[in-house]
Amino acid sequence: MSGNNLSQLPALEALFDNLADAVYLIDPETSNIVWSNTQAWKSLGMSKDDILNHSVLSLQKDVHGLPHWSDIAAEISKSDRFRFLGRHAHKDGHEIEVEVNTTHFQWEGNPYFLSVARDITNRVLQQREASSDVEKELFALREASDGVWDWNIQAGTVTFSPQMKRLLGYGPDEMPGVLDTWKDNLHPEDAPLVMSSLHAHLNGQRARYDATYRLKNRNGHYIWVQDRGRICEYDENGAPIRAVGMVNNITDQKHTEQNLQKLASYDPLTNLMNRREGMIQLQAQMNLSQRQNTPLGIAFLDVDHFKKINDIHGHQTGDETLKKLGKVLKKTIRTSDFICRWGGEEFLLFASNSAMNDMIALGEKIRTEIQKAFFNDICPITISVGITVTNGRENISDALVRADLAMYRAKENGRNRVEFTRHDVQPNTIELNCSASQE
Ligand code: GH3
Ligand code: MG
Ligand code: MG
Repeated sequence: MSGNNLSQLPALEALFDNLADAVYLIDPETSNIVWSNTQAWKSLGMSKDDILNHSVLSLQKDVHGLPHWSDIAAEISKSDRFRFLGRHAHKDGHEIEVEVNTTHFQWEGNPYFLSVARDITNRVLQQREASSDVEKELFALREASDGVWDWNIQAGTVTFSPQMKRLLGYGPDEMPGVLDTWKDNLHPEDAPLVMSSLHAHLNGQRARYDATYRLKNRNGHYIWVQDRGRICEYDENGAPIRAVGMVNNITDQKHTEQNLQKLASYDPLTNLMNRREGMIQLQAQMNLSQRQNTPLGIAFLDVDHFKKINDIHGHQTGDETLKKLGKVLKKTIRTSDFICRWGGEEFLLFASNSAMNDMIALGEKIRTEIQKAFFNDICPITISVGITVTNGRENISDALVRADLAMYRAKENGRNRVEFTRHDVQPNTIELNCSASQE
């Protein structure tokens, strides 16, 4: 084949010379370049003569180990478009990453290969950098966490690291690598918040995904985890395609936190809420009663002559008595009622949606239950109860003062009784209200 066959080409050359890609016309038999556009030799720092009538293989950087040209030619002839990723050698010795697409065609009875080579050096460098960044980060994450996940967002597949599988009680070959494996094990109470945090990151509303939640392990128990991750790859349209993250087991830390919270809110002797927590809950119930326009019953309960128990039987017995009293109180009230240890041998009870009559009945019930529970003890105790009712539209302290006044009246009137102060009674104009209990 000679260049003469290609005499009609010059008219098209100007057009091809405007292409950013290198174009070669190749003789399939010899592998020689029979024509090229200007970009083809310029991009390699060569002259036209350097490449014309030279084998296309001479452009390759990796000549060693290349299959024989006849094998390559056979492959090109078999496919509609033959794609090859390789490196071309620049005259000055540096290499150019290329993507070469080759098609075959007949022209004037002769077969030709048309190769279009695109310089993809920048793309390759970027990809290499991006993937090495991700790999480096993944390595660091593996070292710094209890588990790593690698999510192919569009395929819905997830690679869970062996550590993460171990954390959840699975072997390295278990746990299907799909997103549902994780989703199905989220605690139902935590799932909505976790998913919204994840979607906020995927939508670009948050710079990263960060969630603390409970995850079910193989035994059906929940462990607390902190999970952090971010998207590390986007497609050309800016849609996320890959995200990686790490999971840390924070179960022990959570339990310590919960215990501390319990310590801060509960009285260790009686296991009832302490005064601080009682006040928080009372304020919440007052707000609720105001919003719902329902009465909230409040009662002070004070052990009668408790000092005598300490004096006669010792402090230890006093403590045991308070402990038992806590249990009896808890057993007697309804689950919707609140009780806290106000201090010493004094307790505060409040009950939502309870009018004065309901509260008097509840106070009576508690008073008699306590009397019964301690009847055969070495130190049988009784309590005095002071009741009031609030609509929530007042200061907590005003309501508490009324209950306290009623309780002192119960003491004055002989103890082991229930007294009440109505809402409309101003603390400084207290009159004696009728007793609701018998001794
Ligand atoms: P009243 O019927 O008037 O309420 O008489 P009281 O003896 O119960 O009242 P007072 O307020 O004089 O005494 C309460 C006693 O409760 C005094 C205190 O030593 C005792 N007390 C308070 N907290 C505890 C506790 O945690 N353990 C023990 N063992 N005793 C306590
Ligand atoms: Mg007392
Ligand atoms: Mg007292």
